[in-house]
Amino acid sequence: MLCPYCSNEETKVTDKRDSKNETRRRRECLKCGKRFTTYEKVEVLEIFVIKKDGRREIFSREKLKTGILKACEKRQVSIESIDMIVSKIEERLKQHGIEVKSAMIGELVMRALKKLDKVAYIRFASVYRDFKDIKDFKEAVKEV
Ligand SMILES: [Zn+2]
Repeated sequence: MLCPYCSNEETKVTDKRDSKNETRRRRECLKCGKRFTTYEKVEVLEIFVIKKDGRREIFSREKLKTGILKACEKRQVSIESIDMIVSKIEERLKQHGIEVKSAMIGELVMRALKKLDKVAYIRFASVYRDFKDIKDFKEAVKEV
């Protein structure tokens, strides 16, 4: 890591702190003596989704997008806003860790759709929550 003040390559670590997904290092430049902090973060490349029945599969951005597209069919929703939702959800999942429950993804999608388009939200919720009867459905509509 180069010193941000003088671009010198040699620095020493004066303090190091570990937290759940991050390591923080206080550094001191050996040339100009200035101090700065660096952060090391975990970046997950592959996310595994744990399904309701316990099966595990690799998270697919495409699959998520298809699900949201289906809910937004014939609605005034732009592809850009769908892409944005997908990206945001993917970011959230990466921050969360290597494994996420499918329920968590479902909740994130529902929360995003609720703000974006009420009809799309109800469509998604009805598939996702697998409404048992008309009462469940009415509950969801009432929430909106
Ligand atoms: Zn320096």
